[in-house]
Amino acid sequence: MTIKNKLRAGFSFLFLLALVCCGLSIYFLTRLSVDARDILKDNYKSVQYTKNIGASIDASAGLLNSRQTELIEENLVKQEHNVTEHGEQQLTDSLRVKFDALKALNGDEAKAVQLHTDIKRLLYGIMQLNMNAIEHKYATAKKTADDATLLVAFVGSFLFLVAFSFTVNFPGYIANPIKELTERIKEVSKRNYHQQLNFKSNDEFGELGQAFNTMTKKLDEYENSNLASILFEKKRIETIINSMHDAILGLDEKSFIIFANEVACTLIGMPEESLTGRYAPDISIENDLLRNLLVNDQIKMKIYADNRESYYTKEVLSVTSKDKVIGSVIILKNITEFQQLDDAKTNFIATISHELKTPISSIKMSLKLLEDSRIGEVNAEQKQLLENIDEDARRLLQITGELLDMAQVETGKLQLNFGSTHPKNIVDYAVKALKTTADQKQVSINVHCDENLPDVQADLDKTTWVLINLLSNAIKYSHEKSVVDLIVKIYKADEIEFSVQDHGRGIDQKYLSRIFERYFKIPGATAEQTGTGLGLAIAKDFIEAQAGKIGVESEIGEGSRFYFTLKRIGN
Ligand code: ADP
Repeated sequence: MTIKNKLRAGFSFLFLLALVCCGLSIYFLTRLSVDARDILKDNYKSVQYTKNIGASIDASAGLLNSRQTELIEENLVKQEHNVTEHGEQQLTDSLRVKFDALKALNGDEAKAVQLHTDIKRLLYGIMQLNMNAIEHKYATAKKTADDATLLVAFVGSFLFLVAFSFTVNFPGYIANPIKELTERIKEVSKRNYHQQLNFKSNDEFGELGQAFNTMTKKLDEYENSNLASILFEKKRIETIINSMHDAILGLDEKSFIIFANEVACTLIGMPEESLTGRYAPDISIENDLLRNLLVNDQIKMKIYADNRESYYTKEVLSVTSKDKVIGSVIILKNITEFQQLDDAKTNFIATISHELKTPISSIKMSLKLLEDSRIGEVNAEQKQLLENIDEDARRLLQITGELLDMAQVETGKLQLNFGSTHPKNIVDYAVKALKTTADQKQVSINVHCDENLPDVQADLDKTTWVLINLLSNAIKYSHEKSVVDLIVKIYKADEIEFSVQDHGRGIDQKYLSRIFERYFKIPGATAEQTGTGLGLAIAKDFIEAQAGKIGVESEIGEGSRFYFTLKRIGN
């Protein structure tokens, strides 16, 4: 039965009981009223009539006067119409006979006294009969009242008990399941899905319990499958991270270590259990590598671990979620193999370029001798061939020079001869060196260099080399008869900036970040333009070795501006 129907049935039952109680009360009250009316009508009036007749008889003390006769007649007639008890008719009839006889007497006093006595006896009889009836009827009425009281009290008590039990139990009947449901829902909200409701009833609560149990079962299944897949994925990611040759260290946003793979543990020299969950700066106090990883911006690192020296590059990735940094991952990439190959390549280049320099110089020397007329005249065609060989030998010498410089930088053998020099000196050397090249292309170099500029702290040769390189590129990539601006100015109070601005073809934005990489050449250069792709890379090394900065700004079709800075001396 549904709760609605149960409530209807319960209230109807209570209503019915109240109705029964009321009905019984009305029934018994009616019966009592009927009994009382009967007593009044049947007996009390008869007693009253006999009392009136007796009073008139007593007042006469012999023969009746007309007033007394009239009174007795009136009451007797009423009594004759109110005969209700067994034997009363007979006594009333006798009373009529005696009264008629008394009325018919003609001065016989003795007979009158006798009739008075008879009448009084009869009146007493009638009165007694009615008094007995009153007593009997009163007893009956009392019994009815007692029965009614008992029955109404019983039904009332039963009704009270039912109503009381209804009042006590009904709120619980509704509230208890709701309370239990609330408790279970609270548990579910704490992700405790092992919750079951035991509502056995066949009503809405039973249905609710079943629906709830199904829901928690499904949630539990979902949670378990989810958890299992999350754990599986976690294990898989851990395995992948552990099987990597790179060292990987994960930190949360407060710099607590979340994970460290096997390579990271080996390099740091601590087991994973001693790392995870700990505050990284605390460990770094005693651990040099961790300190370097956290504090140094250095990208390339030489690490001694596992009884050998290895090279690593450091990469720090910050982990963000919804624009909020939630941690970082430090990756140490093992580049030992590449480093060894790079070293071998550098050594090879250094050896070859060194070995090539002597024969090329001797070719140049021989060419010089050939040009001398004392050795013999050469015709115009031979002269042109000799010039070509000379140009090629110059280029070869330049290339081997650049390769040697680069090898020097890479092997860390770069030696700087620092000295104080005026920027004008550097500019003059460079412009002079490139004068012929610029003239050949009819490119004019506009120099803007203030004589009042302070001296700079620099290696004159290397810095001039850099400026020559930038100017030579600017001329190379300029259109004929155009202008190259060479500007030297004070930059950020303590630095001097040298910049070379051309109005050539410019550089595509996508190549700008790679322009200073070794051997990088922008595709599409003509045969005359193309070089080794080493010039800018070496320039960068030279400038950075002097604590300066080098950079480029360029707009395709507009030209390029290459610049570098050097520390000034004094203020
Ligand atoms: P390269 O010896 O090839 O000139 P660089 O390192 O000097 O080597 O330059 C690298 C590349 O940068 C060049 O191949 C060229 O494509 C580009 N580049 C350098 N300077 C300029 C410039 N002023 N305008 C346009 N491209 C330039």
